[in-house]
Amino acid sequence: MTAVIEVRSPADGGVAGAVPDQTAEEVSSAVANLRANQPAWEALSYAERVGWLRRYRDWLLDNEDRLGRLLQSETGKPWGEATFEVPYVVDVINYYAKHGERFIAEQTPRPHGAITMTKKQRMVYRPYQVVGVITPWNFPLALALMDSVPALLAGASVVVKPSEFTPLVTREAIAGWAEIGAPPVFGCVTGYGPAGAAVVDNADFVQFTGSTRTGKVIGQRAAERLIPCSLELGGKDAMVVLADAELDRAVNGAVWGALCNSGQMCTSVERVYVEAPIYEDFVARVVERVGELRQGQDDQGYHFDVGALANENQLAIVQRHVDEAIEQGAKALTGGKRAAAGTFFEPTVLIDVDHSMACMTEETFGPTMPIMRVADAEEAIRLANDSAYGLSATVWTKDKQRGESVARRLEAGSVNVNDMFANLFTLPLPQAGWKQSGIGARNGGEYGIRKFCRSQAIVSSNLTPKREPQWYPYTRLKGTLLRKLTRLVTARDLRRRFGLR
Ligand code: ADP
Repeated sequence: MTAVIEVRSPADGGVAGAVPDQTAEEVSSAVANLRANQPAWEALSYAERVGWLRRYRDWLLDNEDRLGRLLQSETGKPWGEATFEVPYVVDVINYYAKHGERFIAEQTPRPHGAITMTKKQRMVYRPYQVVGVITPWNFPLALALMDSVPALLAGASVVVKPSEFTPLVTREAIAGWAEIGAPPVFGCVTGYGPAGAAVVDNADFVQFTGSTRTGKVIGQRAAERLIPCSLELGGKDAMVVLADAELDRAVNGAVWGALCNSGQMCTSVERVYVEAPIYEDFVARVVERVGELRQGQDDQGYHFDVGALANENQLAIVQRHVDEAIEQGAKALTGGKRAAAGTFFEPTVLIDVDHSMACMTEETFGPTMPIMRVADAEEAIRLANDSAYGLSATVWTKDKQRGESVARRLEAGSVNVNDMFANLFTLPLPQAGWKQSGIGARNGGEYGIRKFCRSQAIVSSNLTPKREPQWYPYTRLKGTLLRKLTRLVTARDLRRRFGLR
């Protein structure tokens, strides 16, 4: 009998459901089925594949509340956050449905020189047969589907391995694909790390979102198999607040950016640098805003703003970062400890922090906001770049030009100026982690779908004589003529063109 994984609600510890803990053999046979079904899917026209994705979009919208409740039961998110994900995926479907065909249309470059003048050149984008998508627990629906959509539209089969902490909503959403009667090219396998490893062992391309630690293991295995992977890993995003910032917007942005999803976003604000003249005011307003937030187990009534952490492991990391900082001289102006029931951790504003503390250097992934006073923008930039990670960052100033010039000096794949998480919605731009935050990118217009394709060069001859001059046999006459001819067309001055001394 297959072992099962019991999924528990982080909000109250109750059982939310169960999924099979699939063995490597089961994963391998699921992938083999998807591989067998892929050629027929690729053979459909782009418009036909779009037709299925549009039906699937409608199914997601029709089932939005049910999926939201399931997602809430396994994540402990407030309703306001449990309902973020379907609209996001719908936007991704609409975007690639509209533009994807153009992004992967075949190209026919003109011959670049005389030598290939008689050849017809085509560049064709052919999908990887099976794309494996391995996802974490923080956005179980969006992260599973947002990469699957362009992969499916490119003509690949997709297998998703959701996190063992939140497999329910992902599995349910992928069941919707079968429910609409779509071709069997989209599947879900469940299990712990070994099930993910079996996906890496069987897929042709791996799209991974999760910790840097696991990303490195996956990258190594992918390298052994010589298959490409795209790794979206952790972050330690900095927020730079300059003295001329629109203060209330910056404060509201900081509070949402640090605490949204209980701080469990790879792009959460994990550290804040504020120029000295506004530091006191900024901190006071942040504390006031945080004090207004409601934390607890939500139903579907928007009664709470901040939910639970995903699990006890996560809570232990957050508690360690806070405790160590306080031991080393930091002050918690709010929170600092877990709440009574479930895995809730109180929103925690920390001051008097510096880069000797884990809370400023390691990824916390929790509802904490360490704030540091800096003398000027130069110090903020230096500290922001003093990190192993380089996912994203924000800059806040009324002077937009200055904001953008600070952005260009930050070592991060994305920078929002006077905004929070805005780049997550700009599908034409790439979301790429620099440094330890990853390899490859998601989205980025044509890149977001081409990445799931192999480019194939097809060259066909317009003229088909019995043999070409450079083929066998080699003779002095042919060789001399060929050399003179190539020299004539490739050299760029008269002396060399005609071989003159
Ligand atoms: P967390 O964010 O909980 O630390 P991880 O980054 O370890 O999560 O895991 C994210 C996803 O990667 C999960 O679906 C997990 O099961 C999967 N996973 C864990 N270990 C491996 C591995 N060695 N190979 C492939 N997938 C793995």
